[in-house]
Amino acid sequence: MLSLIERGGDLARRVGELTFAPSRAVDHVVGITGAPGAGKSTLTDRLIGAARADGGQVGVLAIDPSSPFSGGAILGDRIRMQGHALDEGVFIRSMATRGSQGGLALAAPEAIRVLAAVGMNLVLVETVGVGQVEVEVAGEADTTLVVVTPGWGDSVQASKAGLLEVADIFVVNKADRDGAAETRRDLENMLDINPAMGDWRPPVLLTSAATGAGIDALWSAVIEHRAHLEATGDLAIRRDRRLVDEMGRILVHLVERDVRALEGSEGFEAVKAELLGRRLDPYQAAARLLETGRS
Ligand code: GDP
Repeated sequence: MLSLIERGGDLARRVGELTFAPSRAVDHVVGITGAPGAGKSTLTDRLIGAARADGGQVGVLAIDPSSPFSGGAILGDRIRMQGHALDEGVFIRSMATRGSQGGLALAAPEAIRVLAAVGMNLVLVETVGVGQVEVEVAGEADTTLVVVTPGWGDSVQASKAGLLEVADIFVVNKADRDGAAETRRDLENMLDINPAMGDWRPPVLLTSAATGAGIDALWSAVIEHRAHLEATGDLAIRRDRRLVDEMGRILVHLVERDVRALEGSEGFEAVKAELLGRRLDPYQAAARLLETGRS
C-alpha cells in the first residue's frame, strides 16, 4: 500500500480513501530530525525498543534525502534498525526525497495513515532536518525530537531559531563524548530567551543511543509530551491544522497540474500570441488563462 501511495494514481486514491477514517487515527506520531550522522537511526532503534516494551506496534518511516538509486543511506538505516527486523510488531520503510519534487510531502501523511490503519500505535518519522520537504514532513509529527550532538551549535547559529520553532524535545545524543553538558547549557540558554514559548518548555535530554544511556528518560518525555498535548487540547488542534495544511498542498499540486496541462493548448497559444503582441501584459495574460482553465 505504501508503494501505491508513493506511485500515485487511481489505486493510491483508493488506498487513501480507505485509510482515512477517524477511528483509525494513530495514537502518536513522533518526528526525529537532525543533521546526518547525529545518531537518528540509532536513536530510532532504541525508541522502537522502548515502545515495544510498552506493548505498542511501531511503524517507522525513514525519509531518505539521498538518491533512491544509491541505496547507501537506505541500507544504513535498515542495518542500524536490524535489531527489530524479525519483530512482527515493527514495520520499517524508507522513502526517498530525491526526484519526488514535493511528492513526498504529499505522500508522507497518507503513509502515516496507512500505518495507522494496519494497527500501528506509534509512527516514528525520521527526517534529515535540512530541506523544505524534510521540514514539511517533520511537521506531520505530534511530537518532534530535534537531535544534536556535542559541539553542535558553534557553527549553525543561524538555524537555531528554526529548530526552536519545531522542537518539542531536544536530544543531545553522543553524550558519551566531550562537550555534552555545554551543548545542553547552550540550548537551555536559548530556551530562556525564547519569547515564543508556550506552556511546554522543551526538555533538553542527554542520550547515548550507542549504549542506551538516557533512553528511558527520553521515552518518558515523549509520553509526557503526548499527555500534555491531550490535556491542553493541542493534539486535536495540531492534527486539524495538519489536515488543512495537507489540503492546501494538494490544492497547489492540482492547480499546478492543471496549469501544466494548459501549456501548449490552443487557448494557451492564443493568449501567448496576445502577450507577445504586447496587447496583454503578463498579469492580464495569466488571468485570461485562468479563466480559460475554469471554463
Ligand atoms: P543518522 O545519520 O543521524 O541516522 O545517524 P546514525 O544513527 O546512522 O549514526 C551515525 C554514527 O554515529 C554511527 O556510526 C553510530 O554508531 C554513531 N552513534 C550513534 N549514536 C551514538 C552515540 O550515542 N555515541 C557515539 N559515540 N556514537 C553514536
